[in-house]
Amino acid sequence: MKSVLVTGGSRGIGLAIVERFKTAGWRVAACARALDHLAECPADFKFACDVTDADAVRDSVAAVVQEFGAIDALINSAGLAGSNPLDPASDDTLWHRVIDVNLNGTYYLTKHAFPHIPDGGRIVNIGSVLSHTGVADQTAYSASKHAVLGFTRAFAQHAASRGVTVNAVCPGWVRTDMARDRWQELRIDASRAASDAPLGRIVEPAEVAALVYFLASDEAGAITGQAFNIDGGMLA
Ligand code: NAP
Repeated sequence: MKSVLVTGGSRGIGLAIVERFKTAGWRVAACARALDHLAECPADFKFACDVTDADAVRDSVAAVVQEFGAIDALINSAGLAGSNPLDPASDDTLWHRVIDVNLNGTYYLTKHAFPHIPDGGRIVNIGSVLSHTGVADQTAYSASKHAVLGFTRAFAQHAASRGVTVNAVCPGWVRTDMARDRWQELRIDASRAASDAPLGRIVEPAEVAALVYFLASDEAGAITGQAFNIDGGMLA
């Protein structure tokens, strides 16, 4: 039975990814910032881990390996958004935190999990349409998601000698807490947000999970270093 480690498995896209792999019969490990956040998560092995804490990530990966023996696929879905318009007086805290969770978290998990990913294994990083474009008040988020894509491409080159594929999935608006918080900030509702996409709809977490699952499947073995937009045509 194959095993997968999903970060940010408590809610939204990460939770849908956990459910997708469980349905397909994989053994699933999932983390969030606190164990009680994972109460509704059907993962086989649940643990608290702040992905920005390098030591905690190292110890958590070791615990997953002890439980499952190996990690056939790593899915970096934990993420943080936030509005940080640039101003000389603005606080730097949010900038560092967003970069830390989205970029450094992906780096720590990949660094510690890769030795336990067998040849032919898979890594999927969750980017964003903001891996390709910028939004004025989302400087840290846009920078971090562009960087996730750069990291994906570079690490795909590194991992290729072992047949491990590394890809990014870049969603537009997906119906999760993160998007709802942003709609509130922008004072728009879901139907207004849906009109940003030519298809005129919000993406569902399960649709992102299906794409991630495909990239982790045997059929996707020839695909690496790529970014796949799932955005209702936003970037078309
Ligand atoms: P969400 O509903 O806000 O969930 C965020 C997840 O990340 C939660 O499981 C959260 O755990 C976890 N997390 C946050 N900070 C963490 C940390 N320091 N350590 C460990 N876990 C942490 O977000 P989502 O919409 O599902 O987003 C998932 C991914 O998709 C993110 O990378 C996001 O940037 C990306 N994305 C989302 C959208 C969208 O429209 N929703 C669009 C493009 C890209 P807790 O429950 O413990 O907080």
